[in-house]
Amino acid sequence: MGANDSDSECTAEALFPPFQEIRRSNGSRSDDTGRIVGLSPAIRASLLARIAVLIQHRSLDYFGFAHHSQNKPWLAVTWNNQGCRHSCVQTRRGVFTMKLSDVALKVLKVFSPSVLMLANCALAQTTPRQVAITIDDLPSADLRPCNEHETVANTKKLLEPIRAGKVPVVGFVIGERCGNLGPEERRDLLKMWMDGGAELGNHTWSHPDLNRVPLEEYEKEILATDEYLHHTIGPLKVRYFRPPYLHDGATAETKRLLQSFLTRHGYQEAPVTLDNNDWVFAAAYRRAIKENDAALAERIEDAYIPYMESIAAFFERRSVEVLGRECPQVLLIHASRLNAKMLPTLLQMFRERGYTFVSLEQAMNDKCYRTPDTYVGRKGLSWIHRWGLARGKPIEPEPEEPVWVDKLSSQPLK
Ligand SMILES: [Zn+2]
Repeated sequence: MGANDSDSECTAEALFPPFQEIRRSNGSRSDDTGRIVGLSPAIRASLLARIAVLIQHRSLDYFGFAHHSQNKPWLAVTWNNQGCRHSCVQTRRGVFTMKLSDVALKVLKVFSPSVLMLANCALAQTTPRQVAITIDDLPSADLRPCNEHETVANTKKLLEPIRAGKVPVVGFVIGERCGNLGPEERRDLLKMWMDGGAELGNHTWSHPDLNRVPLEEYEKEILATDEYLHHTIGPLKVRYFRPPYLHDGATAETKRLLQSFLTRHGYQEAPVTLDNNDWVFAAAYRRAIKENDAALAERIEDAYIPYMESIAAFFERRSVEVLGRECPQVLLIHASRLNAKMLPTLLQMFRERGYTFVSLEQAMNDKCYRTPDTYVGRKGLSWIHRWGLARGKPIEPEPEEPVWVDKLSSQPLK
């Protein structure tokens, strides 16, 4: 939705049908509506961070929504008359306007965490969230050796919602993956991605772990895939590199040398903020399919999106805590059968949280990405954790996948 959408499209009732119910459950139904204008970015970030937590916990007495009108962001909330007593002006029947410049701090007190909620659609209008989608382990994250028919079908399925939604993506290619197929078949698979609008990035030749192999060998792997991509797809610029396991240097020396190698070869390391364990779900899913267990496959599908949403909510909050606002996010998912099935629902989840899809380049143009990443160590961390560490903020544990999914993924296939 654009900034000029009319009020009518963003009434709380239209946006969020349970609105009436929530108000009633509070026991003091009120038609008062407060409007806050002129939010400073800092106050807005703080309010929105609280609201995001409330949405997550559903612990609400009151309900609010935000929208744009006449090119200005508004935050409208309902609350009882007492909450409004000191700081708002009735502009027309049931509508109150608040000038945040006068009452910012008071407002934060009035709207304590238990009294606010924001509809997701409306949230999108006030602070457009952005996410860049990146897909690792092309041409196939889970069919080894690759079956040509299945890999083509999977790739088609992954690309359908990307094309339909004009979603910019970068796909990271493992040079040797699907090596059992002929060179033409492999080239056709990469062409499918490019024809689908994806930009291709370098994910090494054989997916080595920088914690375990010498840097020299690792660099050869990057060059091999670079050469392969140029040989296969022609004189296109391959500008992003994604280290397998997000391991980019266990010592300061390795990290520095890798970065200078990448720069010399015209590469940038592609960050990830929404780091997650989609691959654990994908392994469990692979098992359910292999065992022809449709009920289990469905159970995994049903658990996947809530898990991914918990990851989004977690890093939205951590972004505000670490950098004072929600940075454009970068999602990492894999080219798996699970994602081929679930990508439309996954994208919809992001849309409902108010996200628009942007290119990796656009996301990285944001100032957040100029925050130094000083992390040195053996872990593959989200960049939000890295930025936090650089600012003296310890890592908080991420939401975990359900134990039963974890167990399924780690049992050997029958
Ligand atoms: Zn990978």
